[in-house]
Amino acid sequence: MSTPTRTAFQITPKADRVPAAERAELLASPGFGRVFSEHMAVVTYTEGKGWHTPQILPRQPLTLDPAASVLHYAQEIFEGMKAYRAPNGEALLFRPDANARRFRHSAERMAMAQLPEDLFLDAVTQLVTIDKDWIPAADVGTLYIRPFMIATEAALGVKPAAEFKFLVIACAAGEYFSKDAGPVSVWVEERTVRASRGGTGEAKCGGNYAASLTAQMEAKEHGCHQVLFLDAIERKWIEEMGGMNIVMVFDDGTILTPPLEGTILRGITRDSLLTLARDKGLTVREEPYAIDQLYADAKSGHLKEVFACGTAAVVTPIGTLKSAEGTCVINGGKTGEVTTALRKALCDIQYGRADDAHGWVKRV
Ligand code: PMP
Repeated sequence: MSTPTRTAFQITPKADRVPAAERAELLASPGFGRVFSEHMAVVTYTEGKGWHTPQILPRQPLTLDPAASVLHYAQEIFEGMKAYRAPNGEALLFRPDANARRFRHSAERMAMAQLPEDLFLDAVTQLVTIDKDWIPAADVGTLYIRPFMIATEAALGVKPAAEFKFLVIACAAGEYFSKDAGPVSVWVEERTVRASRGGTGEAKCGGNYAASLTAQMEAKEHGCHQVLFLDAIERKWIEEMGGMNIVMVFDDGTILTPPLEGTILRGITRDSLLTLARDKGLTVREEPYAIDQLYADAKSGHLKEVFACGTAAVVTPIGTLKSAEGTCVINGGKTGEVTTALRKALCDIQYGRADDAHGWVKRV
């Protein structure tokens, strides 16, 4: 990993910090996405001038012109990553360079300014440094970090904006899905699609998530936690979930996940788990897999386990798939061995409890 060059961030610490006892109470059971840390990083882009005025500020509302292009034409991208509390108290980041790279690719797809990867890394590192106390204890959770970029130019013409802001905020995060509740249930979405070839499926842009919400509501109506999207053309190939990739585990020791062909997000957790699976001697296949094949393989017993993976969800077992046609139960609705072993191997590295053989962890 390249060492980030030091950018001269101007740091304005918050004057009235949250008292330690109050913070401890908030961090004891933070839920997801509501307990925010106290600062934010902000860097501004102006055409002709480039990226400038890097700042760490007390977390505060933004001032935006009502004609800012992000509000009309959705030039917005984001990332999701975490800071983990190591046993010795240090703050650890997991493959932050991969997030920086994916952010650049998302910016390219959405015709937004390219943020240098070292500036991305520096902003994240500076924020985690100043808000280190907001990383929960390892047995509670992590600090979820949300870098994002918006088009701020006040212009209603449909064109790439000439002004952007890059920001980083963070929130304490407990388990995304309750660990005690066991495997989650998934709604197989047959009505709407998430992405099509040539679209924006591979970019981490807000619009993809807005477009997935009606399916998410439908899933909830059917008593499911999450949505599984199928391909846009044949409506039969498994793609990914609303915010996670999907992996299947078979009785012959192979694992399979859909290939990266432009419609699904290049998950960093997905990539890491495939590497760890190969390390464990499993055969990894990145191949298309049809939903009807999944139902047949679950019935015959060839398909043993299915799990979802992502930064927020980590590795979450899937126990049930529901669709308009019926219900398919995986592994008797129980968490499988491979799912458990891969989750442990990944978390041990992320939390600094295991040897970081692949050089994935960055100490802040
Ligand atoms: N797919 C989608 C649509 C996502 O939003 C995410 C979360 N970023 C993922 C997959 C998993 O990606 P990662 O492992 O990099 O968090």
